[in-house]
Amino acid sequence: MKTKEIAAVQNLVLTWYEKEGRDLPWRHTDDLYRITLSEIMLQQTNVPKVIEKYHAFLKRFPTVDKLARARQSSVVKQWQGLGYNRRALNLHKLAKIITSDYCGIFPENPEELGALPGIGPYTKNAILAFGRNRHVSAVDVNIERFIRRLHGHGTWPEGSDTAQICYNFVPEKRSRDWHNAVMDVASIYCTKKKPDCETCPLRTICKSYPAPIEPIVIKKKERGATERGKHIPDRIYRGRVVQVLRERSASPDEIGLAIKSDWSESDREWLEKILEKLKVEGMIKYTGKSWQLK
Ligand code: SF4
Repeated sequence: MKTKEIAAVQNLVLTWYEKEGRDLPWRHTDDLYRITLSEIMLQQTNVPKVIEKYHAFLKRFPTVDKLARARQSSVVKQWQGLGYNRRALNLHKLAKIITSDYCGIFPENPEELGALPGIGPYTKNAILAFGRNRHVSAVDVNIERFIRRLHGHGTWPEGSDTAQICYNFVPEKRSRDWHNAVMDVASIYCTKKKPDCETCPLRTICKSYPAPIEPIVIKKKERGATERGKHIPDRIYRGRVVQVLRERSASPDEIGLAIKSDWSESDREWLEKILEKLKVEGMIKYTGKSWQLK
């Protein structure tokens, strides 16, 4: 898009945001601990669930120091309901590094921030944009979809640098507002499955209006197991294992019976691989008789 068109997009998005933007708890703070927590929670969990869990987590671990001093199993227990439990381990490791190596103060240097556990390129830039209004571009799948659709079908320059194109849209002095606004537009109007082009604030400028044409994406089947004729991904079983161990320690057979409704001896090898992987990740441990949270 040309500079003039980009300026028009910025204007429409920010004007809409001032009136209609969502009021989310982590938008009322510039505390990097709280912003990091919200970003890690939002990586794979939807906003309503994160709001509920965010407050509860902060009540239990109000500061990075309190989190660093907590037992790992307590953090994993507090993560209940959010899924993808490995995020809890990373967050705990991150808190320990912040307190031991940075005197409890989050680094604001992108390289140091990006080297912390669980902080990928998107999360790093999101923390800097939301926490410090830094002129960076945080590009997740929703933002990329929105920016691509603005350009219209078939107009995305071949071999182009997506990060650079998205960065061109970020207003220099309003990075925080821009990212908040785009997140909202992408999740309220420009949704993946049912974009609401008729009421979208960008409809006058969007080259996909009145409806985007989407490329066909063939999804690869995730590794998993068949349960009563249905394919269930291993990540779901991993979550179920952690859920069982949040409540009690258990033998492999007890775990198998609890996580798979048609559990049988033939599933043992498959379960052992899941348990072993969780052990290698530092989530659980084996005492010789039973498994428990580490
Ligand atoms: S007009 Fe439709 S495709 Fe374009 S930004 Fe709005 S919702 Fe997305």
